[in-house]
Amino acid sequence: MKYYILFGPPGAGKGTHAGAIAQKYNLKHISTGELLRAEIAAGTELGKQAKTLIDAGSLVPDSVVEGMIENAFDTAKGVEGFLLDGFPRNLSQAQDLDKILEKRGEGVTAVVGLMIDDAMIFERIRGRAVIEGRADDASDEVIANRIKTYHSQTEPLIEYYKKAGKYWEVCVNGGTIEENRARVLAKIETIA
Ligand code: AMP
Repeated sequence: MKYYILFGPPGAGKGTHAGAIAQKYNLKHISTGELLRAEIAAGTELGKQAKTLIDAGSLVPDSVVEGMIENAFDTAKGVEGFLLDGFPRNLSQAQDLDKILEKRGEGVTAVVGLMIDDAMIFERIRGRAVIEGRADDASDEVIANRIKTYHSQTEPLIEYYKKAGKYWEVCVNGGTIEENRARVLAKIETIA
């Protein structure tokens, strides 16, 4: 099985490009953010607990998202691998993912980072807020906290995966969605 990680700051376009990548390589797309929003929409206890943290732009506990990831690995059928979107988001999640995969006799195949600068994160998320209506896209304060969380907790993973020889990067700061999708697919083609 292949285990790809689609990496990058909020608003970089991970969710926008994941579908095309998953389809091309027959991967199951797993977005922890989407799974959490589904829990909130269904009104589950987990969703209620996660909502406060998500709405503040903070991370939910590692155990919550890791449980979701393991469950998705266990239940997937007919795919050649997985495309993780929004996970891992801190060093302990990355280390736990390595352990989870090791238990299965597997490992991370490649990490593809979509890179945009902080000003572009604001621009993209403000645009998305109008279309998708996500509560955590609605205020500049929450966007700023997600950017801070990304730089302090998530960005260090670039070094972690570079050291493992598994990191590739695509600049998506400019360009249309179609242009960026083509860039991302071309990059993955070089490592697939
Ligand atoms: P996303 O849709 O990936 O932008 O995620 C939306 C929100 O869900 C994040 O701001 C976090 O509050 C939460 N979340 C998603 N994935 C994770 C994760 N791997 N670890 C912790 N919190 C997460």
